[in-house]
Amino acid sequence: MRCTAPLTLALVAGVTALDFSQSHDTNSSVWSAVAKAPASASSSQLLSSRLWNRPSKRQTGWSPPSNLANALQEVWNHCMSTYSNFWGFKNYGWDQIHATGGKINVCVRWESSATITEAQRAQVASVYAAQYQKWFSWLYGYDNFPYSKIDVNVVGWAVRDKSLLQGSTAGITVYTDTDSEGAPQCSEACGRFFHQDGNYNSCPGGASAHYDQSLWLTDGWSGGAGGDWGQRIGREYFIGSLGSSNVHILLHEMGHTFGLDDFYDWLPTGQTNFIMNAGSATVITDFDGWMLRNWWNGLSRYRGWQ
Ligand SMILES: [Zn+2]
Repeated sequence: MRCTAPLTLALVAGVTALDFSQSHDTNSSVWSAVAKAPASASSSQLLSSRLWNRPSKRQTGWSPPSNLANALQEVWNHCMSTYSNFWGFKNYGWDQIHATGGKINVCVRWESSATITEAQRAQVASVYAAQYQKWFSWLYGYDNFPYSKIDVNVVGWAVRDKSLLQGSTAGITVYTDTDSEGAPQCSEACGRFFHQDGNYNSCPGGASAHYDQSLWLTDGWSGGAGGDWGQRIGREYFIGSLGSSNVHILLHEMGHTFGLDDFYDWLPTGQTNFIMNAGSATVITDFDGWMLRNWWNGLSRYRGWQ
């Protein structure tokens, strides 16, 4: 996240979607590096990841593993000293799930001329939700996190032409709205980014039809971007990843939505391969999971959510 992004976002919300992610995320060479990276999902890491994903319900406060504690403190200090308006920004993913009571409604922005079947759309929704669950599994049962399941649902699709959506579109709202640059987007009247006060009176379906984030899929794109507004990745990349258990660029961008930083210009002591260090890992590592927990630990206390 650029250190100036939160304040800028707050000021221009409703005008244009800005990225939390650093511009490096959009550079495809950043992500292709992952092919050369050592397997980040070593068996020992997976084992410890599973263990750490099952914290005691009674675990409260901040108690990271001793081998990660110093690096986590470095990251937290770096965020605190480089983000502007760190506490004052009120549209982190955390603020969104607090407002919805533990749900994320998603709009798919289909910036593509390709058709997509009903079955493929169902897959897009389920794979997207599964990626978020990989993050949230670090939170369920941890340090008074109030939700045992965060429902992630695709509620709308934005397309250039409704005929691109094959089969039944029951259960979703189809939009042909565009942003200022002509890319499909769901109605601004229904979007959290544009209505951070939670007032969706101008949304035809009201609050129940609102969306919190967009999954923006763009033809010919090989980079990524992420922020409070959602995540943007390549359409071909995501559709080609529907059979993968880890969609690593999407995982990285989802981390930005929940406030996690980029690591293009420094690395915490002893940490090299993790999902928020773009192109260095294909899975959420223990270090990533504990960075997410650090945010919950800090922000929930500041916001009075404990
Ligand atoms: Zn990034």
